[in-house]
Amino acid sequence: MTTAPVAPAEAAGAPRADVPPVLEITSLTRHFAASKGTVRAVDGVSLTVARGEVVGLVGESGSGKSTVGRCAVRLDEPTSGTVRINGTDITRLPPRALRPLRKDFHLVFQDPSSSLDPRMTVGRIIAEPLRLHGMARGEAARQRVAALLRQVGLRPEHIDRHPHELSGGQRQRVSIARALSVDPDLLIADEPTSALDVSVQASVLNLLADLQRDRGFGCLFITHDLAAVEFLADRIAVMYLGQIVEEAPTAALFADPKHPYTQALLSAAPVPDPVEQRSRQRIVLSGELPSPLAPPPGCRFHTRCPVAVDRCRSEIPVPRSIPAAADGGRQVSCHLVTEDGTAPDAAV
Ligand code: SF4
Repeated sequence: MTTAPVAPAEAAGAPRADVPPVLEITSLTRHFAASKGTVRAVDGVSLTVARGEVVGLVGESGSGKSTVGRCAVRLDEPTSGTVRINGTDITRLPPRALRPLRKDFHLVFQDPSSSLDPRMTVGRIIAEPLRLHGMARGEAARQRVAALLRQVGLRPEHIDRHPHELSGGQRQRVSIARALSVDPDLLIADEPTSALDVSVQASVLNLLADLQRDRGFGCLFITHDLAAVEFLADRIAVMYLGQIVEEAPTAALFADPKHPYTQALLSAAPVPDPVEQRSRQRIVLSGELPSPLAPPPGCRFHTRCPVAVDRCRSEIPVPRSIPAAADGGRQVSCHLVTEDGTAPDAAV
């Protein structure tokens, strides 16, 4: 697919030390009051996305990953912690001050059907952010929309269609075109393919990968699809019950998951080689994900961890950095992972 950029913000490349991350989340919590108590949906998450980097955020349904994404773009208000975009703390900015910064970050939702205004044409939907941010009007906006349509693989005639006249995959392409219309530095993609037919998921993922490479935006890719995150992400953070339990470069994480939960998660992911697939040992976790209303004390994973020891039930594991030289910069929160990266084997 051809995805020549309209006006790339910056060529993709390795993160630069002299520019702030496009997204920097520090000690983020999001608690909700409920009739039975406090739902601790997100509890102390720290995460960065560098310019031009794709960070995958994975975990089971209910782990809090979508709430992190919504807090990162202020669609949800954090209970505590900070969110910085390009170095600017946006956590408590009033709406008027936040509005001009909104062109720097966009969220692509899981279900394009509910995020696109059914009364608007595709052309108007994609042009809306340009108009809101005063970036293009009239013929200039129309030309930009036409170029974006080409980039996301839609035809010129789609410009006058309404969302209901498009397939699910085409609607998600419109969502992506709208999000990228103002050249954001950060795209947060929350399960962008999970509402689509399996047959079109790969083409939308390929489109995202092409656009990210060509335009160089940072991306927080939230998903439970391990094959998709392995394909797209440079780095992966694994969430369990509101907390990040392991974070590592993608290849290192898939080659050698250290945290018992990551080991279990990856053991369920299919691999392309049928011989390897047959010989793999799946780690089946007992029980359900505990309720975020009453997270277990100590390590939150201890109620399901196959290798839990006594201290796991009372002592909260602190994130341990494993030296970059040995492992590409990994952090793991498990009592049994040592400083040199020796980890328990949850399959034993
Ligand atoms: Fe399992 Fe204990 Fe490690 Fe938690 S700290 S993952 S319960 S071994």
